Amino acid sequence: MVFIRNKENFTCGYCGKDVVGNGYTNHCPYCLWSQHVDKEPGDRAELCRSLMEPRAVSIVGDSYRITHHCLTCGYEKVNTSSPEDQFETLLAIVRRTNDQLMKG
Ligand SMILES: [Zn+2]
Ligand SMILES: [Zn+2]
Repeated sequence: MVFIRNKENFTCGYCGKDVVGNGYTNHCPYCLWSQHVDKEPGDRAELCRSLMEPRAVSIVGDSYRITHHCLTCGYEKVNTSSPEDQFETLLAIVRRTNDQLMKG
């Protein structure tokens, strides 16, 4: 698996904000939605290109892992959140994840 550092800016397909790529950004720091563009991290070789919903957030040590779920093909990927990510949005997903767990 080769990680290609890809420093590009993009416009979020979900909330429409302009996101400045830092080379590792694979999701929008405002709404945390991602896009299905990679087959291997950073290669942008995936043709699906659909939006990926931040379905769940889990806390691992002192970092947050976001589970992204592709709306079109159902592909799931776990991404580590970046320090730029909107904390309130992260927390909202954490709460939703916990609710779902409690409901079973
Ligand atoms: Zn967004
Ligand atoms: Zn997909």
